[in-house]
Amino acid sequence: MSNMSPFGMNSFKPSQHNIPVTYHLLTFDVEHWYEGYRYRDLDGWQNYPPRDDRMVERLLDIMGETGQRSTMFFTGRYAEEFPHVVKRAAHEGHEVASHSYSHSVLSRMGSVDAFREDLLRSVHLLEDIGGCKVKGYRAPKWSILDLNYLEVLQVLHEAGMEYDSSIFPKFSGGTGNHYPHQVDLVSGRRIWEIPATTYPLFGLRLPVAGGLYFRFFPAWLTHKAMSVCQAKLQPGIIYLHPYDLDKNCPRLPGGNPMFQWLRYYGVDTAFERLEVLLQEYKFGSMLDWVTNQKQEGLK
Ligand SMILES: [Zn+2]
Repeated sequence: MSNMSPFGMNSFKPSQHNIPVTYHLLTFDVEHWYEGYRYRDLDGWQNYPPRDDRMVERLLDIMGETGQRSTMFFTGRYAEEFPHVVKRAAHEGHEVASHSYSHSVLSRMGSVDAFREDLLRSVHLLEDIGGCKVKGYRAPKWSILDLNYLEVLQVLHEAGMEYDSSIFPKFSGGTGNHYPHQVDLVSGRRIWEIPATTYPLFGLRLPVAGGLYFRFFPAWLTHKAMSVCQAKLQPGIIYLHPYDLDKNCPRLPGGNPMFQWLRYYGVDTAFERLEVLLQEYKFGSMLDWVTNQKQEGLK
C-alpha cells in the first residue's frame, strides 16, 4: 500500500478513530532542554553534550508500544541538530509540525515579516528532513497574540498551515474560545485554531493538561478536564515538552527561584503519569482531527 497521503509525500495516514468523544490529541513541543534558560539569558547549558534526542526517542518507543500517535511540534533548531528524530517521528506516523525555527516569542521577532521568515525557515527545514508536508504550527510560549493575531493567522494559511495551536486560554486569557474552532481570515478563507485544554473552575480556566501545570496539579484534575471535553464532544489536548518528563535533565543554578522550582517540580513522576494517560485514552494527532472534521463536513 502506498504511503502517500492526501497531503502529498507524507507517510502520515489519517487515523481510523473518528469518534470525537474517545479521541484526544497528544502534542509535544520538541525543543532543547535549555530553552527556558536561553530565554532568560542564563548560561551554563552550553557546557553539556547534546542529549535532546534521548527522551524523544523514548517517547516514540512508548507510543509505538501503545499504538498511539501524536503531533510533534519541532523547532527548526532542534531539527537541525537531531534530524534522525524528525525522520523517525514522520516514519512512524506522527505528525511533524512547526514550533518555529528560533523558539523566539513573537514579540521578540518584532514584526509579521520576521515571523513569516522564521516560520518558512522552519517549515522548509522540517519538510526536507521529514519528507512530509507541515500543516500545523504552535508559537513558542503561546505567544501568537504578541503580534496582530489575524495577520499572523493569514501568514500561517498562506504558508500552507491548516491549523494553529498557539492559544492557551489559561485563567482568563486567550480569545474567549476554549475549544477547537475555525477563524475567518481577511482573505475570506478559514483556519482552525486548536487551544490547549483547560479546566473550568470558579469562573477561571485551570491549565491542567500540559507542561509545568501537568506536573504541578494533581493527576485527577487532568482526568477531570478530559472528562469535561468528552462530555462536550471535544478532544482533550495534552501538551508536553520532552524535558517535562526527563528526571535526568541537567539542573542549572541562577535566575528566578520560582522559575527554578517550577522548572523541575513533578518531573520525577511525570513520565509515569503520561504512561497512565496512554493506557486510558486513545490519542491521535491534530492533523488527524482536522482531517476528520473535513470528512465529517462532507457527509
Ligand atoms: Zn516551546
